[in-house]
Amino acid sequence: MPDKTPSSGTTLVWFRRDLRLDDQPALRAAAETGAPVIPVFIWPLAERAGWTAGAAGQWWLHHSLLSLQAGLRQRGSRLVLRQGEPLPALLALGRKTGARRVHWTRSPDPLAAQAEAETAAALRARGWRVEIFPPHVLFPAETIRTAFGNPVRVFSAYWKQCLAQPFPSSPLPAPGKWRSPSRWPASDRLEKFELLPRPDWAGGLRQAWEPGEAAALRALRRFLRAGLEGYGQARDWPGVDGTSRLSPHLAWGELSVRRAWEAVHSRPKSRGAAAFLRQLGWREFAHYLLWHFPQTPEQPLRESFVSFPWVSQPGHLRAWQQGLTGYPFVDAGQRELRATGWMHNRARMVAASFLTKHLLIPWQAGARWFWEELVDADLANNTLGWQWVAGCGADAAPYFRVFNPSRQGERFDPLGAYVRRWVPELKRLPDRWLHRPWEAPARVLSDAKVRLGREYPLPLIPHAAGRARALAAYQRLRSRKRGGHA
Ligand code: FAD
Repeated sequence: MPDKTPSSGTTLVWFRRDLRLDDQPALRAAAETGAPVIPVFIWPLAERAGWTAGAAGQWWLHHSLLSLQAGLRQRGSRLVLRQGEPLPALLALGRKTGARRVHWTRSPDPLAAQAEAETAAALRARGWRVEIFPPHVLFPAETIRTAFGNPVRVFSAYWKQCLAQPFPSSPLPAPGKWRSPSRWPASDRLEKFELLPRPDWAGGLRQAWEPGEAAALRALRRFLRAGLEGYGQARDWPGVDGTSRLSPHLAWGELSVRRAWEAVHSRPKSRGAAAFLRQLGWREFAHYLLWHFPQTPEQPLRESFVSFPWVSQPGHLRAWQQGLTGYPFVDAGQRELRATGWMHNRARMVAASFLTKHLLIPWQAGARWFWEELVDADLANNTLGWQWVAGCGADAAPYFRVFNPSRQGERFDPLGAYVRRWVPELKRLPDRWLHRPWEAPARVLSDAKVRLGREYPLPLIPHAAGRARALAAYQRLRSRKRGGHA
């Protein structure tokens, strides 16, 4: 029985990775009923087993929930926090408040969506009304197919079909005010979720980021004003602030992807607009692939890669994680990640390539590390990124294309701003040797106060040897495949 005077028609709005009020159809529809609305968040997030937010993501989530609470308070509402399995938590809230109606946004992950469907069925069986709103993507995954009706696996063909579709509908403004219950159910304290790291290592994250919806909208405005025009050129240079840095805001749903799309699409004359929309297209493609191939966070999309001859070298994995591979560009990326919870896309590609090709460590180990360390960790984008680099995913770089980490550094960080920032022990090295310190003459190294193997490591493996070993492993896979088919 409800505690007291249940409000008939009360609607619960169950928030997950959609921590915003703007363009929030589930909340808006609840507000429009005219009946009381109770916003709810349940920890842990009902994502697929084994993929609860990692440590950096939890730090982000803590602050994002504070921001959502503040936004709701400004509108005379609250966020009710609960811990546990979604179904019992929602039922308990129903008993307390008399609510028999709940709204939420569907997860773009099919396994999570299936769990949600089961929750919905169990609620409906108890007489609840459940409304599930479309996931946080621009184009529905179900509508894009090859001529044979299969999922599209090539990005350019996928994106062409998306752009031929009706454009995403305009984002909805946040509802102004709505009715609140006369009595609020008790809420857990956010601290009880223990999302903040102990001991506190999050100083670098605090310096680099401001989580929450208000900050997300400010970041979007700042990017439109100062970043979009030059985005097409600057986006590949990790040493300059050339990308939007919207990824954690999008990953946590603090920023509606339709809001970002519309803001940029309405500036077609801006030189960076098409390039930026194309990157949102990669986000779409990642979510599309996860929808059609739900096994891919753990399994390669190209099945032949299941038997790839990976090598397990925990010492190498640790050196890579700590930014001590001996390749300055890779190490800069890894240290940026550890310090700020984010890594520039170019560095992500090169670091991931080094792990999977030079070190032959399974991409899944790298994906797990990113999941733990990234504030923008997103199951779809992370899976696509790793499988793309490892050569086993959709539209992937062919396995035999092995990034040369020194050349990548020289090309995309020619003046060394990125490496000097994150690998300061090399900052006195002249540009010419910065990305390949082991080739520097002894005199240059001693002038720069670098002793290789002391202040900075020698490469874990020479590039040529790493490349040859990777190609040999690939050949073995191919001959096994041929043998298997014989
Ligand atoms: P911008 O260049 O400003 O792009 C705008 C938005 O487009 C991004 O915020 C993101 O939502 C989307 N986007 C851009 N590039 C990609 C891409 N290659 N794939 C999918 N979406 C993209 N991105 C994540 O959001 N979460 C992850 O967990 C993640 N893991 C990755 C792992 C690897 C190995 C690689 C190579 C890439 C990964 N990416 C991931 C994609 C990309 O690196 C980041 O989205 C990007 O660096 C975020 O910075 P930004 O917001 O400044 O990007």
